[in-house]
Amino acid sequence: KKITIAIDGFSSTGKSTLAKQLANHLGYVYVDSGAMYRAVTLFAMQNGYIGTDFFDKQTLINSLHYIKLHFQFNGDLGFAEMYLNDVNVEKEIRSIEVSSFVSKVAEVSEVRLKLVEQQQEMGKKRGIVMDGRDIGTVVFPNAELKVFMTASPETRAQRRFDELQAKGDTVTYDEVFKNVQERDYIDTHRADSPLIKAADAIEIDNSELSKAAQFDKVLELVQK
Ligand code: C5P
Repeated sequence: KKITIAIDGFSSTGKSTLAKQLANHLGYVYVDSGAMYRAVTLFAMQNGYIGTDFFDKQTLINSLHYIKLHFQFNGDLGFAEMYLNDVNVEKEIRSIEVSSFVSKVAEVSEVRLKLVEQQQEMGKKRGIVMDGRDIGTVVFPNAELKVFMTASPETRAQRRFDELQAKGDTVTYDEVFKNVQERDYIDTHRADSPLIKAADAIEIDNSELSKAAQFDKVLELVQK
């Protein structure tokens, strides 16, 4: 029987790596909910609603119906790419600029409402692995398996830094570390759906755990 798997946790804890591994192995659909918050953030940036020292929340809220999001499989990447109003934005949404504004956009209740609704719609098809911050608590409170991932901020910043550097980004480690800390703070302190471990989620700290060991551990939980 196909189940629903919710993977939540802090940023750069390897949620998406694990979720993709599981989806590939089980033949499930993988959905990166963070990509959706990132795409809405990119939309807000493109339209001048958010920048370094301003955020016109109300105009973003009023414009939400102009935002169409969908995931599309392209070739053999093994995961679906994010489209904003029919444009592939998979690359742009990973930039440090988007990363630095996304938590502010994710604080807006109207944004969350729209995205949660769309995520729940995708979840009607069984056999889904979704990763994010509120999947086990808000999006799929009845998920059969909930995993909550943690790792030290230093480990996480180093991972994100290595990723960005490999892509040719000129960002420094200190900038990435600061961004990780800022997002942790905002994600855990927002009024609407703060990042918390669901009571029935299984916590995995992977600071010292290899990807393979972590995968085996979770796969065992799936098969229980
Ligand atoms: O997972 P990722 O780091 O790409 O998510 C980017 C940001 O989107 C998070 O830092 C968080 O602020 C927000 N987010 C959220 N709820 C989710 C997924 C992401 O608030 N389910």
